[in-house]
Amino acid sequence: MKISEILKSEPITISMEVFPPKSDVKLDSVRATVREIARLKPAFVSCTYGAGGGTSRYTVEISQDIMEEGVASMAHLTCISSTRDSVHEQIARIKEAGIQNILALRGDIPAGMDFPSPRYYEHAIQLVEEIRKDYPEACIGGACYPEKHPDAFNKDEDIRHIKEKVDAGCDFLTTQMFFNNSIYYNYLYRLREAGVTVPILAGIMPVTSRRQMERSIQLSGCVIPPELTALADRFGDSPEAMQQAGILYASHQIIDLIANGCGHIHVYTMNKPEVAAGILNNLKGIL
Ligand code: FAD
Repeated sequence: MKISEILKSEPITISMEVFPPKSDVKLDSVRATVREIARLKPAFVSCTYGAGGGTSRYTVEISQDIMEEGVASMAHLTCISSTRDSVHEQIARIKEAGIQNILALRGDIPAGMDFPSPRYYEHAIQLVEEIRKDYPEACIGGACYPEKHPDAFNKDEDIRHIKEKVDAGCDFLTTQMFFNNSIYYNYLYRLREAGVTVPILAGIMPVTSRRQMERSIQLSGCVIPPELTALADRFGDSPEAMQQAGILYASHQIIDLIANGCGHIHVYTMNKPEVAAGILNNLKGIL
């Protein structure tokens, strides 16, 4: 099913992100984990795609596993380090596999790569345009950044590019993780003011270890509120306590979003079914 239709028909949706294994050795266990997450019956499950090719091989297979569990799936696709031919091939693979939803991404610029790229792709908007041509009936998502993309000069410029990406054919947007809902509400207001009218899914990352928190800051540059730092300081040495605290923090963020009319939430599960299940359990009476 197309995600645009799901979002239209349901005021509150909890969807989830999974990632493929880095090596063949872990393929079977990751596939089993993903199926466990799909059996929780989220609104849809998306599967990431490694920009450098490292974890790109299994995105389509895993997306098919998700559909076999009766859940809509979305395949991520990046373009920055790809040739045009390989991108066309991947779009054709996704279409042939019956996957109706694609998250169109640029990907991070690999270290040492010349930019603008001699290989053609510079921004996700070009990928959105290619998908629209090759697979017109696909539902296309794009990424957006409540605290601005790290490469952008300022928020206004970043929002202008988001508007162009949506006008090129994105049906919805999913945000980068954020840990302070006020940042999301302010961003949503600015997107709407700029004329972006598509659904914006709030990306929520349950922080279940101190290491993961440090990595999140490193990758996304997002602000960590003092409340979350306090949890990591107090419970960071106890995996069980930190997991429980992280699930509760994420659940609280989600409840606040839903209470404020922002009902479409995308949970970065980090391939942890017990974390995804813990969040859904905390929302039982609300969903
Ligand atoms: P773009 O939309 O191209 O934006 C990148 C930068 O370029 C921004 O600063 C923007 O303002 C600027 N820009 C855009 N258009 C123009 C223009 N026309 N002219 C000048 N500047 C412009 N990475 C992966 O490798 N695999 C994944 O599966 C993956 N999944 C993700 C899922 C989500 C929900 C999010 C939020 C990110 C994900 N990423 C993933 C990370 C993403 O690839 C990086 O953040 C990447 O650096 C930017 O990708 P983008 O699609 O947002 O790029």
